[in-house]
Amino acid sequence: MQANSVLSIFKIGIGPSSSHTLGPMVIGKLFCESLNQQNLIDKITNIRVDLYGSLSLTGKGHLTDVAVILGLSGKLPETTSTQGIKDIIESVSVNKSLLLDGVKSIPFNQDQDIVFNPNFLDLHENGITISAYAGENLALQKTYFSTGGGFVKEESNFYEKESTAKALEIDFKSAQELLDLCNKYNKSISEIALMREMQFFSKKAIYDYYKEIWEVMDCCIDNGLNATELLPGDLHMQRRANNLYKKLTNQENDSVKDDFNSINWLSVFALAVAEENASGHRVVTAPTNGACAVVPAVMAYYNKFYKLMNDDDVVKFLLTASAIGYLYKTNASLSGAEAGCQAEIGVASSMAAAAVAEMLGANPKTTCDAAEIAMEHHLGLTCDPVGGLVQIPCIERNTFGAVKAVMSAKMAIDRGVETSPMVSLDEVITTMFHTGKDIDHKYRETSQGGLAKVLKLKLLKNRLLKKFKPKQINQCS
Ligand code: SF4
Repeated sequence: MQANSVLSIFKIGIGPSSSHTLGPMVIGKLFCESLNQQNLIDKITNIRVDLYGSLSLTGKGHLTDVAVILGLSGKLPETTSTQGIKDIIESVSVNKSLLLDGVKSIPFNQDQDIVFNPNFLDLHENGITISAYAGENLALQKTYFSTGGGFVKEESNFYEKESTAKALEIDFKSAQELLDLCNKYNKSISEIALMREMQFFSKKAIYDYYKEIWEVMDCCIDNGLNATELLPGDLHMQRRANNLYKKLTNQENDSVKDDFNSINWLSVFALAVAEENASGHRVVTAPTNGACAVVPAVMAYYNKFYKLMNDDDVVKFLLTASAIGYLYKTNASLSGAEAGCQAEIGVASSMAAAAVAEMLGANPKTTCDAAEIAMEHHLGLTCDPVGGLVQIPCIERNTFGAVKAVMSAKMAIDRGVETSPMVSLDEVITTMFHTGKDIDHKYRETSQGGLAKVLKLKLLKNRLLKKFKPKQINQCS
């Protein structure tokens, strides 16, 4: 997948975090590839991993250590089964050894060879250094950054622009450029995005890609609606989607309808996906894992309450969402550690708002207005995951991102031509990034401020309970 393709905004992966799980897994695999390129694999006797900044401070809850081990074992997120993950992690833990790139067994003690260093590296909040030794000698050392949404960069080429094999005839770097193309060709945003992507891929490949993305999203909704087990981790959180789903399904036969019926459905779709992500199951990064439920929830809501989507509708929805996500990736951030939750839930909400607006018939300008409104009302949103787990506030936050997306689309469409908005999409994207950089580190995926700080005592109590009453807790976990 071309990194500068808008398609890469959506990726099939595993929970709970794109920057803290997918990125580190990809980094582990990239390091293996470098070892292979330099014919070093056979010589390596031990590996040390240093996790920096946010990856260290919330890495345990986000399973960053597990992700790096999987990557170093030669695994990639899109092809690794949940059972495969369990087997590898259990083997490393029991045998205290790791099969480097799946071929070379080396001693590996997870508790000693992965070092959680809370200091921040200069280039990005999510840094990883991997060092490979041949006996006493350092054979290879590389530093990488997980920049959000599963995207990664190596320190040595951090500032290099993503290369394109050929200069693109149809391309956009800003919302204004995107709108100019829409005007020039008299096309919608999804149509311009399709024209752009067809410079990389065939139309069939694009359709196949998005159809698979929707299949995984849909399957994830279904799994989440029907799952009942507790969420993993010390919070011992009960899933909520299943109960609400049963309630809503029963209500469908009632003659008296709840006024909140459609909003409740939107909410339950988001809860279902976010809970699947929190469980480390298969999800679509959209544009991140923490925020992976907003886009599928809005799609499922549109599908249920407006129109049963055919393949064209699915591709149109996802192309519009991708184009908007790409603008944030190019001009701001998709990383909670870099710019707070506004860069995750805010971006997802903005993408979904634009997509549903276009589906509801909005022209390109109104579609961008919908995206702008959704982000405007996420500005300043902090990231303070309790216990480093992607559960509180992340799960509910996805439902609010979805609700705001639908409301933003409605507001943009209903605004009418007589009251044109003061703020453009480009302006709000820039504002989001600057606001994010101004937010104190405590509120950018470090679990050192906000709810994470306030609930720390409760979490410690849960941990102690688990320690002293193992049987009772294990029944549920
Ligand atoms: S609070 Fe938001 S940005 Fe932070 S981990 Fe949760 S979803 Fe991601």
